[in-house]
Formats: sequence, C-alpha cells, structure tokens
Amino acid sequence: MTHHFSAASLLRNAFSGHKNWSQQFRSVEPESKYQAVIVGGGGHGLSAAYHLAREFGITNVAVIEKGWIGGGNTGRNTAMVRSNYLQQDSVKLYDASIKMWESMSQKLNYNVMFSQRGLLHLAHSVSDMQEIGRRAHAINMFGADAELLSPGQVREWLPDINLNCRFPVMGALLQRRGAIARHDAMAWGYARCATELGVDIIQNCEVTGFEINNGQVRSVHTTRGRIETDTVGLAVSGHSTHLADMAGFRLPIETVPLQALVTEPLKPVLKSAVISASIHAYVSQSDKGELVIGGGTDPYVAYSNQGGFDEIETMMTAIKELFPNYSRLRIMRQWAGMVDLTPDRSPIISKTPVRNMYIDGGWGTGGFKTSPIGGLLMAEMMAKDTVPDLAAPFALSRFNTGVLVDEGAASSVAH
Ligand SMILES: Cc1cc2nc3c(=O)[nH]c(=O)nc-3n(C[C@H](O)[C@H](O)[C@H](O)COP(=O)(O)OP(=O)(O)OC[C@H]3O[C@@H](n4cnc5c(N)ncnc54)[C@H](O)[C@@H]3O)c2cc1C
Repeated sequence: MTHHFSAASLLRNAFSGHKNWSQQFRSVEPESKYQAVIVGGGGHGLSAAYHLAREFGITNVAVIEKGWIGGGNTGRNTAMVRSNYLQQDSVKLYDASIKMWESMSQKLNYNVMFSQRGLLHLAHSVSDMQEIGRRAHAINMFGADAELLSPGQVREWLPDINLNCRFPVMGALLQRRGAIARHDAMAWGYARCATELGVDIIQNCEVTGFEINNGQVRSVHTTRGRIETDTVGLAVSGHSTHLADMAGFRLPIETVPLQALVTEPLKPVLKSAVISASIHAYVSQSDKGELVIGGGTDPYVAYSNQGGFDEIETMMTAIKELFPNYSRLRIMRQWAGMVDLTPDRSPIISKTPVRNMYIDGGWGTGGFKTSPIGGLLMAEMMAKDTVPDLAAPFALSRFNTGVLVDEGAASSVAH
C-alpha cells in the first residue's frame, strides 16, 4: 500500500528524516497473461491504465515500458497546457483535457503543480492578426476562453517584452486558463494510483512483436517473455510507426526531433507562458525559476534525442529579440524528444486494422496537455470496443476519407 499524502503524513515523515516513505509504485516481473496490455509508459499509457482500472473496472492490466516511465516525451516536454486550437473537434478535445487537469492533483492526491498562469500567443503581422482573430472567435464559439490583446495590453501583461523587435508585436491571443504543470509529477501520479488499483507497471521491457491470428492480437512479444492478452493499447509517440509495423499496418506519421532547453534559475520574471509562432520560439518560467524555452521541430525525419544546433540558434535569436533582458542568461540543459507528426497536426485516437488493438498517438508537439483525455478515451475504446464521440473525428480512417482536422496554424510552433 502506498502512502497517502496529507499534512499529517508530511509532518510524520519530516520527523523521521523522510526515510520511511514507501515506494510510489510497484516494479514487478511480467505475468504470462493480462486482460489488457498497454505499450508505452508515458503520460498517455499511464493515464489509460489508470482510467481502465478506475472508470471501467479492468484492473488486470500491464503497462510495458522499454525504458523508465516518463522517460520519453512525457519527461522531455515544455509542459504547456492550452486549448486555443481552431477546429471545433480540437477545441472540445483539448478543453476536456484542461478540465481534467483542473482537478487532477485532488483526484490523484498528488501535486502535479498545475498552474493556470495564462498563455499568450503573439501576432507580428497583419496576417497573424487575422489568424488569431479568427481563432479567438472560433474558440469562444466552441465554449473555451480566448481574448485578443492590443500591443498596450501585451506590454501591461509582460513589462519586459520588446514590442518593437524586427517583426513588431501587433497584438496577442490570450488564453487565461492556459497553464504549465510538472510533467514528471503527472506520470508519477498516474503510475502511483494505477498500481494502487492493481495495474502492473513493467519497466526495462521492450515490445518486439505481436502474435496476430485472424486479424486479432493473441499475445505480445517482449524482451522479458511472451504475454497473452485480450486487448492492446499503443501509446508510444515517436515509435508509433515501429509498433504499427510490427502489427502489420502503416500510419501516416513522421518522427522528427523537437528540442527544448532551460536557463539558470531566476526570481519570478515572467508572468505567463508566451508563444510566437511567427518568429518561432516560446518560453515560460518553471516554479524552480528556470526559463523553459522551445522552438520548432528539426526539419528532417530522425530518431534522435539530441537535435540540431541551427534550431537552437533560431529559437535563441527569437527569444533575445523578444526579451533582450534574457540575453546574458546561461543555458543549463538542452535535450530533444522524438515527436510523431501527422499530416493535419491532429492526433490519432482510433481503432486499428487489428481488431483488438487501439492507438492513442500522433500527438506530435502537443500531447503532454492531453495525457489525461487521450488515456481516458483509449481506455474506453479498450474496455468497450466502441469509439467515444470526442475521439470519433480523430480516427485513422480520416486519412482515407480526407475529412482532416487541420491544425497546422494552431500548432505551427511546438508547444
Ligand atoms: C521538446 C518537447 C517539447 C514539448 N512541449 C510540449 C508542450 O509544451 N505541451 C504539450 O502538450 N506537449 C508538448 N510536447 C509533446 C509531448 O511531450 C508529447 O506529445 C507527449 O508527451 C506524448 O506522450 P506519450 O505518453 O504518448 O509518449 P511518451 O511520453 O514518449 O511515452 C511513450 C513511451 O513508449 C515507450 N516505448 C516506445 N517503444 C516501445 C516498445 N517497443 N516497447 C515498450 N515501450 C516502448 C517509450 O520508451 C516511451 O517512454 C513536447 C515534446 C517535446 C519533445
């Protein structure tokens, strides 16, 4: 049994030097059979396992992770949460996820440091202004929050910003419910609650193939043995095409590196998250004080957790233009993740050509924020073999029918 966090337990453990906390989740050997197997121990896989157990009563579940939980994109992203997309289906999906974030710390009894400090999307040209204007109206119409700010209001919101940079700031789209959160905490919180409900989390175990008979998965082959199962969920982000290949179908996904970096910690200097798609950079300040900075994806397909230098130069040039005050800060760490881009920059939450296999992937540069809802929707598909309304527009079949959910503009810089 894991500890429940409360003021009393914190006090008790403080007096014993914090040496008696129990493990947050069990690490176990895989069994030879599970009712459900989830491949990928990132936010989406762990959320799916938690919801399978909690909402649908399926507790005989294994999460198979080739490395350590949260070691993929879940532990590599810049932790921005927003729903300021363009299409109705997207706004509904992403906003449902924000609502789940709003009560996550209480539900998981785990502080995920969800902080709704607002998110500003800057406009630098007349066409940018038209784009954010159109998006603000769409977002409001679909029931989420968005406001347009004048340059004066942007200056009030961000006193340090340089409005007269090479591409002057002409306005901004503000989403006040936009947020940042602690990415590891989300993964650990889901893992802890899932194991409490009976889920097995198996780390250092790679899925290497599937045994498929009559269009249905019978077992999953792993580096630690064969596991029979009734249903499989894939939540492997940049590795989605590999796993699909093992199961004998193709996905319209390209995997590219996306980088981020953090500066040395500072006292609070930046009130909210700021994104500029036009000059290609975004920044927020973590609760530790570090500025967390990201940019666009590397312009080539690669399976690398490093990324190219030219992209770093582009994003740092942009940040220095916007915030000249930051120009002498030291960079502490830089890294990349492998993101899974679809042609319309929307996710794939879907059944697959294999009857009892489901996928929650293709989130590209923006799936941290949707770990709660993506996992919940895949859990429902795995439990009931039906497609929930929120997931229906994001089916794999849209790439045959041509009914795409085009979010190219709203995701034109990664976040
Ligand atoms: C630099 C960067 C910045 C980002 N910024 C944001 C942001 O601000 N906001 C936002 O919403 N999103 C952001 N994203 C995107 C976001 O991180 C991802 O969309 C999201 O984390 C995907 O979660 P996941 O659980 O699907 O994948 P992951 O966390 O990548 O988990 C997948 C897991 O599958 C495992 N796996 C792969 N193959 C196998 C196998 N064969 N067997 C077993 N396990 C396997 C991997 O080891 C990995 O742990 C960013 C991404 C990056 C890289």
